[in-house]
Amino acid sequence: MAEWLKDVEPLTLKGRIAVPYSWWVGDTGSRFLMSLRDDRKILGTKCPSCGTVFVPPRKNCGRCFVDIEEWVEVAAEGVIEAHTIVHYAYPVQPVKPPFAYALIKLDGTDVGFLHLIKKDLDKIKNGLRVKAKFKEERTGSILDIDSFELI
Ligand SMILES: [Zn+2]
Repeated sequence: MAEWLKDVEPLTLKGRIAVPYSWWVGDTGSRFLMSLRDDRKILGTKCPSCGTVFVPPRKNCGRCFVDIEEWVEVAAEGVIEAHTIVHYAYPVQPVKPPFAYALIKLDGTDVGFLHLIKKDLDKIKNGLRVKAKFKEERTGSILDIDSFELI
């Protein structure tokens, strides 16, 4: 610690910033979200070099540095690889706590897909199987999948 900092009181200021924004999710993101909205299907992309299936889909493989053009439908079910249960409410959260963020490896994919679990929080364990629950009214959002539920 610098010598001059020893006499500095660590003051903080509280504030709030609201910044409305919108952005184009790109052609890959649009196709993914349209599939959730219109067909209740989860699509991924498959690297032509290493075969990795990405969900959410990626336009290129960060491992092989190649473009990806192959789309694959993956299961709406998978395994919880990691999770954390949220009890603390914070404005940027997608839903009111308590809920869990879970990294889910969907069947047919090679990477974790981050989403929500809202029910049976006391029963969640890594390794358990879950299934996507789609909303009845979908808008083209990642939250068209309402959450995942234990099966
Ligand atoms: Zn690859």
